[in-house]
Amino acid sequence: MRCTDRIALLFAALCVSASVSGRPLPTARAVPGGIAVVDVGSAEEVRPAVTHDGHPVLVVSDAGRWRAIIGLPLSLNASSDLVRVRQGDAGRTVVFPVAAQNYPTQSLKVAPKHVDLSKKDAARFVSERARLDQVLDAWTDREPSALRLAAPVTGARSSSFGLRRLFNGAARNPHTGMDIAAVAGTPVLAAAAGQVVDTYDYFFNGNTVILDHGMGYLTLYCHLSRIDVHAGETIASGAPLGLVGATGRATGPHLHFGVLLNRAWVDPELVLAAATAP
Ligand SMILES: [Zn+2]
Repeated sequence: MRCTDRIALLFAALCVSASVSGRPLPTARAVPGGIAVVDVGSAEEVRPAVTHDGHPVLVVSDAGRWRAIIGLPLSLNASSDLVRVRQGDAGRTVVFPVAAQNYPTQSLKVAPKHVDLSKKDAARFVSERARLDQVLDAWTDREPSALRLAAPVTGARSSSFGLRRLFNGAARNPHTGMDIAAVAGTPVLAAAAGQVVDTYDYFFNGNTVILDHGMGYLTLYCHLSRIDVHAGETIASGAPLGLVGATGRATGPHLHFGVLLNRAWVDPELVLAAATAP
C-alpha cells in the first residue's frame, strides 16, 4: 500500500467524528474494543450492505456519504482490518488501519463460587452462553434513532473497559463494558430508544436487560436488583428499565453497561455523551 493511501485510510477511519446531518456519530477510535468509522461510498448510491467478519454492520448516511460504523472486537490483534461491501451485484473490500491498544490488568476479589464453578453452575453458564449468543445476533433493518447514547444512570464512570481481569488471582475474560457507580435502587434508564430483546437472570451478569436499537446496535444493563420491562416491549429513550443492584458476579452495587456493534463489545465511552456531575 502506498503511503498516501495509508494516510487517506487513516483519515477515513480516525478523523470522522461529527455528523453534518445533525445526528452525531460515535467517536472514531480504530483500536481493539473501539469503533472504526469508514467511508463506504456516496449516499447518492443505494445503501451498501457491509459485513465485518461475517456479521452485518451498521451503515448510516452522513454529509452525503455512507459511513460504516464498525465495532472492533477486543480480541483483534492486527494492524489493519477489513469490511466487505456489497452494492447490487458488485462487491469490494475496504481495508482500514487498526492501532494497538494496551489495556491494563485488574485484580478483583469475588465469592469463590463465581470463579471455580460447581458442575451445576458450569452447566448453567454453558446454556446461558448459548442463549446470550442467540440474543446478541439480533438484527433489524430499522436504523437507530440515535448513535450517541444518554447515560443510563448518573454516577462515576470507571474507565475499566478492556481491562484484563484476574478474579481471585485467576485470569478470566477481559471486561467488555463500563461500570457506573450508583446507589442500589437507582433507576436505570434506556440509553436510546429500542426494543427489549432479552430480560434474564444470568449467572455472571445477574438480572440483565438487553435493548436492540437497530442494525446490530445493542446495549446491555447488568446486575439489576429488579427488572421492570419485558422482552418484545418497545422502549423510549430514557424509559426506566429496572434498578441498580449487585446480582450475579458483582463486587457491590453498580451498573455494568455494555455496547455492542456487529457482535463486538466496544468502549461505551465512544458513544456516551459527556458525563454530567451527579
Ligand atoms: Zn462490569
